Amino acid sequence: MTDKYCVIGNPIAHSKSPQIHAAYAAATGQDISYERCLAPLDGFEATVRRLVQEGYRGANVTVPFKLEAFRLATRLEARARAAGAVNTLVFTPEGEVVGDNTDGAGLVADIVRNAGVPLQGKRVLMLGAGGAARGAMLPLLLEGPRELVIANRTLATAEALARDFPEYAGRIAVRGFAQVEGAFDVVVNATSASLAADLPPVPASVFCQETLALDMMYGNKPTVYMAFAASHGARVRDGLGMLVEQAAEAFALWRGVRPGTADVLKSMRQ
Ligand code: NDP
Repeated sequence: MTDKYCVIGNPIAHSKSPQIHAAYAAATGQDISYERCLAPLDGFEATVRRLVQEGYRGANVTVPFKLEAFRLATRLEARARAAGAVNTLVFTPEGEVVGDNTDGAGLVADIVRNAGVPLQGKRVLMLGAGGAARGAMLPLLLEGPRELVIANRTLATAEALARDFPEYAGRIAVRGFAQVEGAFDVVVNATSASLAADLPPVPASVFCQETLALDMMYGNKPTVYMAFAASHGARVRDGLGMLVEQAAEAFALWRGVRPGTADVLKSMRQ
């Protein structure tokens, strides 16, 4: 019997996840269906209950429901707890709703495997301290960077984020954009500035020839941040690889088999 999955969001029509999971299912020979599910803004919980009743095995969760999914889960994986948000739900036969977060793992996989930049011992700068930045913290720190600097417009938000990872305190620093010093190996734009075609006010000196500059956002053309970073010598990447990798991670959780991502990423770029 075909196992059912979906992605819940509002809006959801734009989601590329069905295409990605269909490709993974075909490549691994898994018999699954995966569709878009539009939940009313005040109806996330009711939607999840319905899916469970209809025999769905799991779901991805996207904007604006990741925090609600976190609250609704009956069990949380460590990555979800650290992220304070859930992007993947597993509905178990015992009736548990397990919440996990694969966004950060997707980001790390894209940097390390797809871009070929190991993070061990590196200097990493994260721009932004919102939900996406929070989700990336633990997976990034587990890779062993020498330093992880968080730069945010509202300093207090970045300070609160850093405080939630006390065991890594010696390796995390918090700065205002203007106070960031020196060049970095990896600079991740986790602000939502790109959505409004804005550039976060990051000093150009953070980029050099060896820098990988990644924007979590993706679209038909490079973001303002990517253009800025490239004009200062950095190698640039958008967030499509992160999207494809977080989906592979969710697929592996559900199906116990990790699909290859190279072909999917290549076809989505075309
Ligand atoms: P949040 O609203 O939680 O956080 C927004 C962050 O951006 C805050 O740190 C905010 O700073 C900062 N910010 C907003 N506008 C500006 C600006 N003009 N200049 C500088 N900083 C700014 O958003 P999310 O964390 O959920 O999302 C961030 C981005 O990540 C989005 O573009 C989203 O599409 C992307 N994303 C991509 C994924 C993928 O798979 N590729 C997965 C998840 C997210 P302040 O605290 O001062 O307000």
